[in-house]
Amino acid sequence: MNTRSMGPEAGVPAWEIEVGEQPLDRPAANSIGGWPFLDADQEWPSCGCGERMALFFQLDLPPEIAHFGGDHLLVFHCRAHNDASNPPVDADRLASRFWDAPQLSLPGPFWRTLLQRGPASATKPEPHVRALPLTLRPFIDEPVRPGYGAMLFKVGGLPSWAQGPELYECACGAELVYLCQVPENLTFLTHPGAPAQPYGDRDGYQLFLGNEVYFLACPQRCDPAAIWPVNQN
Ligand SMILES: [Zn+2]
Ligand SMILES: [Zn+2]
Repeated sequence: MNTRSMGPEAGVPAWEIEVGEQPLDRPAANSIGGWPFLDADQEWPSCGCGERMALFFQLDLPPEIAHFGGDHLLVFHCRAHNDASNPPVDADRLASRFWDAPQLSLPGPFWRTLLQRGPASATKPEPHVRALPLTLRPFIDEPVRPGYGAMLFKVGGLPSWAQGPELYECACGAELVYLCQVPENLTFLTHPGAPAQPYGDRDGYQLFLGNEVYFLACPQRCDPAAIWPVNQN
């Protein structure tokens, strides 16, 4: 939802993402790890290093979410890479096909976020991240100060902006719209014996070095991967 069209004092509908404790033994659309629900023409993403990325989480977005309601959001990140995202920008506009831009010394990115519209079918499960159910709990994100929402794992609402608003124009010319937030240092638990993540937590993997992540997506839907993960701490 476009926060700039909201009054600065107004609460904004949001959904807290709650992580369940009982491991999943079958596909679920809302999950950490688990079975990715990918469109038929969408392959499981691979990192620029060649390694298949880990599925961190996926969600069916509530129908009330502006632009993206009913879409399926998937967040993948390489287990072997762990760094902050580096926006390929010219002024404040992201470069053409910014979602495929090189990162670190790789020929491509070490993460992939997708908005899928299905019909999708679950594929094989994510092998390393433990499959746990996610539940969306609606709440009104009351600004803690004008334009700043709660620091939670959530979709919708207002970003909590650890370092102040950071907005981008998509390569297609549309203003990217805030969609989803992952709080700082959230660990995605892994199975015992799973390969470690560099600089990671012993119990699991983190996104972008544990930075707070604000996912901004293209409301024109110019590509399923036209989503930028703003990192702040
Ligand atoms: Zn990698
Ligand atoms: Zn776009």
